Amino acid sequence: MGEQSPAPIPTLAVRTSAIPHQPRSAACSSPADLISPPAASNDQHQPAPTTTKMTALPPYLMAANPVASGTVFRSLFRNAAQIVTVCARGETHKSGAAMDQVAIFENASLLVDQAGRIVYVGPLDTLEAQPWFLHDSTHVEFEIDCTGQSIVPGFVDGHTHPVFAGDRVHEFALKLAGATYLDIHKAGGGIGFTVQHTRAASDETLFADLQKRMDRMIKLGTTFAEAKSGYGLDTATEVKMLRVLTRHNKSHHALKLSITYLGGHSVPKDKTLAAYTQEIIDEQIPAIVRAVETGTVHVDNIDVFYEKGVFERAETEAVLRRGKELGWAINFHGDELHAMASGEVGAQLGARAISHLEEVQDRDMEMMAKNTIFATLLPTTAYVLRIAPPPARKLIDCGVPVALGSDFNPNAHCMSMPHVMNLACVNMKMTMNEALVAATINSAASLHQEADRGSLEPGKFGDLVVIDNPDWRHIIYQMADPPIAAVYVQGTRV
Ligand SMILES: [Zn+2]
Repeated sequence: MGEQSPAPIPTLAVRTSAIPHQPRSAACSSPADLISPPAASNDQHQPAPTTTKMTALPPYLMAANPVASGTVFRSLFRNAAQIVTVCARGETHKSGAAMDQVAIFENASLLVDQAGRIVYVGPLDTLEAQPWFLHDSTHVEFEIDCTGQSIVPGFVDGHTHPVFAGDRVHEFALKLAGATYLDIHKAGGGIGFTVQHTRAASDETLFADLQKRMDRMIKLGTTFAEAKSGYGLDTATEVKMLRVLTRHNKSHHALKLSITYLGGHSVPKDKTLAAYTQEIIDEQIPAIVRAVETGTVHVDNIDVFYEKGVFERAETEAVLRRGKELGWAINFHGDELHAMASGEVGAQLGARAISHLEEVQDRDMEMMAKNTIFATLLPTTAYVLRIAPPPARKLIDCGVPVALGSDFNPNAHCMSMPHVMNLACVNMKMTMNEALVAATINSAASLHQEADRGSLEPGKFGDLVVIDNPDWRHIIYQMADPPIAAVYVQGTRV
């Protein structure tokens, strides 16, 4: 709905196409830091006692020439204790120390126009003093009293695998008994199990299940997400998964997806890496291109599970390069179980984002920072596999823009970005500000969505979460049962 709506209203803030890199800290090139015990790094990073706010905020944010007098607006969120816009100067993303600063307007209101885009954020009396704004029921369709509540941008989930058939609760039991990811993989479980069930499932079943999952996801505050194929590993099923994701985006569902082709998720049991890579390039991708031409499939990004013993460097590069030639953004799984020089690979190929990075090394962090490659961190992976989490602190200190994703898939069955932010803070030592930035503007930017999403600035969509507490941080603090009062997409309650 409204994705192709009118051009964004010009805003007060100047949008820059690139943000200068933060100076890199000495920690970036200190190998000793990589092996520091958790207690030591914890000592170095005491959490701030209160929210770090951006200094010198303007008193309000307003579209430059909003509207003619007497215009009808879609919704007015009135008198929230806090409206966390995250950005206030049109930042495309945040890195380094800026990740710990969020823009907060206190006792503020937010106005959304009929195109679903934000027109104003700031004090209600300043809005009411505008000659173009007529505050009555014929000019504001929905008025939402947010007294005692706070508002944050809708979350952008940077990494999900939401199309699949068959759950893997039995494997969860095996893992609890001590089996590793690779043990399960070798025993024909893991991806192999899901591939078998997904191949057998119809478009209808996959689509119905996807919509149910998206219903749950949006209730938890996610208003945009990345979503991958990758449980087909053959041409027909990969195209089927992309068709289901595309059909979802064409449906009336408010949660829209950035669609990723992940034929290179795993090598099927009966094929060699070389043969399967050739199949991806010579059969799967051409079939997807034909489906794109007929309009049944849309693809935004290309991904490969770049891992020792799965997709090696030459094969990974060949597949990602082919996707890039077709105009798909490179957004791949890297350095999850082994250090694979993913930052170098990403820099050479012009990647937008690399996910996982549990084993990322200093040199690759530096290359990611230098080339503005987003680190999409997935705290549920380390949690569920009981492996060391990625070095979030070090990535941030090096100036790598960090984003967050749920990694929702049958292995890590989590669709909750509030829970992901909590895990990022507790297990990865991020501050609550950093977690919010990573789950909003940075994850939006990792998917090239920063012009429309990720902050509550004029011109962007009115996608937001109303929190039933005057302090926004309760969305992270109240783990497992976050106090979400309501979720809005383009100013409409969902
Ligand atoms: Zn994944």
